[in-house]
Amino acid sequence: MSSSSKHPPQVALFINGEKVFSKSANFRNITNPATQEVIAVVPFATVDEVNAAVASAAEAFKTWKKTPVGARSRIFLKYQQLIRENMKELAAILTAEQGKTLADAEGDVFRGLEVVEHAAGIGNLQLGDFANNVANGVDTYSILQPLGVCAGITPFNFPAMIPLWMFPMAIATGNTFVLKPSEQDPMVTMRLVELAAEAGIPPGVLNVVHGGEEVVNAICDHSAIKAISFVGSTKVGTHVYNRASLNGKRVQCMMGAKNHAVILPDANKEQALNNLAGAAFGAAGQRCMAISVAILVGEAKDWIADLATKALTLKVNAGVEPGTDIGPLVSKEAFKRVIGFIERGVAEGATLDLDGREQQVPGYESGNFIGPTIFSGVKPGMSIYDKEIFGPVLCVSFAKNLDDAIEMINANPNGNGTSIFTQSGAAARKFQEEIDVGQVGINVPIPVPVPMFSFTGSRASKLGDLGPYGKQVIAFYTQTKTITARWFDDNTIAAGVNTTISLK
Ligand code: NAD
Repeated sequence: MSSSSKHPPQVALFINGEKVFSKSANFRNITNPATQEVIAVVPFATVDEVNAAVASAAEAFKTWKKTPVGARSRIFLKYQQLIRENMKELAAILTAEQGKTLADAEGDVFRGLEVVEHAAGIGNLQLGDFANNVANGVDTYSILQPLGVCAGITPFNFPAMIPLWMFPMAIATGNTFVLKPSEQDPMVTMRLVELAAEAGIPPGVLNVVHGGEEVVNAICDHSAIKAISFVGSTKVGTHVYNRASLNGKRVQCMMGAKNHAVILPDANKEQALNNLAGAAFGAAGQRCMAISVAILVGEAKDWIADLATKALTLKVNAGVEPGTDIGPLVSKEAFKRVIGFIERGVAEGATLDLDGREQQVPGYESGNFIGPTIFSGVKPGMSIYDKEIFGPVLCVSFAKNLDDAIEMINANPNGNGTSIFTQSGAAARKFQEEIDVGQVGINVPIPVPVPMFSFTGSRASKLGDLGPYGKQVIAFYTQTKTITARWFDDNTIAAGVNTTISLK
């Protein structure tokens, strides 16, 4: 993964099955968010290096696309086993560079592992259709063929799960891949790539380049890349979608969010508040599916003090310390941005019920820690409501009834996830039917679907029609080819010339 002679070590590129140390003059530090220790440096790859990665993927595609489905499948069977065997090491790398707790880091790897398990079943997933005898002696059938070189661009917040949303399904369907991990925490991704090679993914089928804007633009512009899967902020995702679409690529972009939870007064209070606190403050709020707005309906408005008490029980500490619930934010920049939002929330007139700004963590004084923070009386038009904060800050709004709560959520541009807490089946069903959000939890705070379904965020949280993983991604990474075939009988000669479009 990294050169041992340099201190701090340099994260390598991965091209044609080999670790390659970049010739770039441009590097960035990878910093432990709990200690500020620089644990590695990552290069911003040159355009020549991006071209070399794509050329290697294009060459490998010539043979990989012909690899029998059973052979592809068996690589992912082996890969899931290797990920399991190395789970503790993967989680430790992830926590060191990203900050989340070790338990949550294992969850990050595990949710990606589930996609690898799914990829191992590719023989049952990449199936075409067959219609027998659609006209006299004619059959129609479809096959799902790989596209060629595909690329993935990933965010910092799930450096294991999100790369694993992408390259396993792309490669299992017969494509080759160029991955551009987040430059903030690429080390666990690189370890996963090494394990993929160990599992038998041949040289050139999976390549990695590091970098930021310049490398992403080179990927959007490269004529040999057929499809791009992007996960990250709305601003960058919109840019990637527009630029790569104009270049004729298939693109899917999973982007920013503002996820609302509706708490009805008939909900089981203890369960609802536990779920709310976990989903708002877990991973220091740095999840695209974090609950960032709670709408307390009717009498549930009186539950804020109990929610704050619960939030105060969460232990803020370095992710490696046993019993930690909330680790540091990923970077000093993220820390400053979140502090800025809290200051604006106060200035804009929201009520600060719990203030996490002065969070002391003995032994980790320089860490990027912010404790759970709760604002109530939050309304559309306040920047803490209109913008994605991506920190441990929960906005609380009030609604008279379920209709008002649904109206508020549907008026928000984002559509990544939402949830409702209630004991009423009728209320839950009404919510499920009327809410205009692509992923809905019923007494489940973070409804990220398992891989036999797809991640189906909607509206401003998503560009492109097909989601990552699940059935939709099989369609995303393949071209449907439909074949209409007639094998002539001798007696069809008698039919003569057919000058119509109908199959006779
Ligand atoms: P980001 O958009 O800053 O970075 C994502 C990727 O884009 C990185 O690989 C980065 O190197 C690259 N990039 C950054 N700036 C760029 C630029 N100007 N031009 C081209 N490329 C650029 O996102 P992030 O901060 O790493 O991740 C957090 C964001 O991702 C949040 O908005 C979160 O909601 C979102 N997210 C969404 C989902 C989802 O499934 N909808 C999942 C996880 C994260």
